[in-house]
Amino acid sequence: MSANHGTLSCPATAALEHLKAQLGARLSTDPAELEPLREDRSGHRSPGAPLALIRAGSIEDVQLVCRTASEHGIPVVTRGAGTGLAGGACAGPGELVLSTQDLDQVHEISVPNRLAVVGPGLLNGALNAQLAEHGLWWAPDPASKDISTVGGNIAMNAGGLLCAKYGVTREAVLALKVVLADGRLISVGHRTVKGVTGYDLCALLIGSEGTLGVIVECTLALRPVVTGPRPVVAASFPSLIAASAAASAVMAEGLTPALLELMDGPTVECV
Ligand SMILES: Cc1cc2nc3c(=O)[nH]c(=O)nc-3n(C[C@H](O)[C@H](O)[C@H](O)COP(=O)(O)OP(=O)(O)OC[C@H]3O[C@@H](n4cnc5c(N)ncnc54)[C@H](O)[C@@H]3O)c2cc1C
Repeated sequence: MSANHGTLSCPATAALEHLKAQLGARLSTDPAELEPLREDRSGHRSPGAPLALIRAGSIEDVQLVCRTASEHGIPVVTRGAGTGLAGGACAGPGELVLSTQDLDQVHEISVPNRLAVVGPGLLNGALNAQLAEHGLWWAPDPASKDISTVGGNIAMNAGGLLCAKYGVTREAVLALKVVLADGRLISVGHRTVKGVTGYDLCALLIGSEGTLGVIVECTLALRPVVTGPRPVVAASFPSLIAASAAASAVMAEGLTPALLELMDGPTVECV
């Protein structure tokens, strides 16, 4: 087999040529753009740069990438904002990075139905800024909410300090559109609060860390913005045991605090 023939029959080369012809500037092989994709915020670093970065501009782009990668046996790493702490968005040699960050549209905000339909690339903080104008709020509150995407939050089933009262991301998602590895588009979940028919595939996809498909549209359950005074109580205790007993007593009283935070002495000093 000639060297030239070998190059042309290389699955990665054929896949990249096909994708480049379809996607144009949405596909980049610029080393300066690929290098940061080796990392997220986990501290992990892959052994080398991925093959290419594709910035999906539509659901059809995602379908094309998944279908082509499947046909050529090339792994795809889906990436939101890259703030994950589990290494799921770190991409290495021989892999394609599929960014959903440009799928950041707000398709619908329905005040009476208390739901929003958005693209996965929208930042959590940007979504909540828009919802506030309607007196609504999406409750998942990872500390990274201003820099992480809704799709990433769903893929990680993120939960912040308020999860004790409002639940984690799973409790705030009604339905998803997802592109499977072979490029098929599926819809899971329901637009209604009561959606009990069929297997709960939506719950399965939430927290699946990009392993089951690419989330391309998210129907989110919203809450009215909390108004009125928000009392804050601070107390100090002689021991961790005493502080834990106080937290248990609060819950046993039937109170539902938005959050209960326990800080030990060294942490308080750091703050
Ligand atoms: C300062 C800081 C504070 C944080 N605080 C919290 C916290 O309080 N609670 C918490 O739970 N996490 C927290 N995190 C972790 C991180 O921010 C969250 O996991 C966040 O949900 C990741 O979103 P992302 O858009 O950055 O996703 P990425 O890091 O890009 O991706 C994370 C995972 O989701 C997958 N993924 C991303 N988009 C999609 C998609 N459209 N379809 C399918 N899979 C997808 C990726 O493949 C990867 O496996 C924190 C991180 C930082 C840096």
